[in-house]
Amino acid sequence: MIKANNLTFSYGDFRVLNDVSIHCKKGKFVGIIGPNGSGKSTLLKCIYRVLEPELGTVYLNGTSLMDLSVKESAKSMSVVAQHNHSHFDFVVEDMVLMGRSPYKKTMEGYNQDDFTILDKSLNAVDMLDYKKRLFSTLSGGEMQRIILARALCQEPECLILDEPTNHLDVKHQLMMLKVVKSLDVSVVAAIHDLNIAMNYCDYVYVMSQGKVKYHGPPQDIINDAVIADIFDVKAKVIKQDGETAIVFKEVVS
Ligand code: ADP
Ligand code: MG
Repeated sequence: MIKANNLTFSYGDFRVLNDVSIHCKKGKFVGIIGPNGSGKSTLLKCIYRVLEPELGTVYLNGTSLMDLSVKESAKSMSVVAQHNHSHFDFVVEDMVLMGRSPYKKTMEGYNQDDFTILDKSLNAVDMLDYKKRLFSTLSGGEMQRIILARALCQEPECLILDEPTNHLDVKHQLMMLKVVKSLDVSVVAAIHDLNIAMNYCDYVYVMSQGKVKYHGPPQDIINDAVIADIFDVKAKVIKQDGETAIVFKEVVS
């Protein structure tokens, strides 16, 4: 369970999060949506401890992050961030195995269980055949799937995803969402694609200029009026046979 209470964060004098609260109950898939620059990534960074909020507290299973070591929180929470592609010289399997590091003592090697989890994680993202490849030789979408495999290898209770389906083709977008949905984990994901938010999230928070402006189940929240208000786009939400699709028409001037 993840709870962020009243988070405020500024880059210098520029306030990017203003009293933001979100709650992800155990096993739920919570989406953070909003236009570019509305503060989604900054919110996630406060949750996964790259940034420290000026005000407010993040709780992981009821315990404040301030009371957990980074290693302790890493056992519970793993992250698929954006532009997280700095490990260029690594072989794929070594990179995915890094997900096991919160469970290891200094210099402790990997055991058979770790290798079993490695294969399971690579298989889940359809990348088992790429085990021996250099990460730097992968396409953007393949890299994204390997980063997810590393997050899975961590066997987390909570998964933080920053625009996880960027760079993925349609098949692998669906695969990634299916994998994530099939895990018994709590997910907080910044989601760029409103159709995905509509169809996969249990609950959404809609951000605008560093604040949560709307929140609720996506079927209640994502509608023509909210899309026009938040994204300045005229859209039509079409519901048919239990499916919902959003069609974008034009920019509202
Ligand atoms: P989103 O993920 O919703 O697109 P971000 O959280 O990345 O938004 O950014 C929110 C705002 O903070 C944007 O205006 C962005 O330019 C600004 N910002 C992000 N990172 C930094 C930084 N390191 N220094 C200064 N401003 C930043
Ligand atoms: Mg972002």
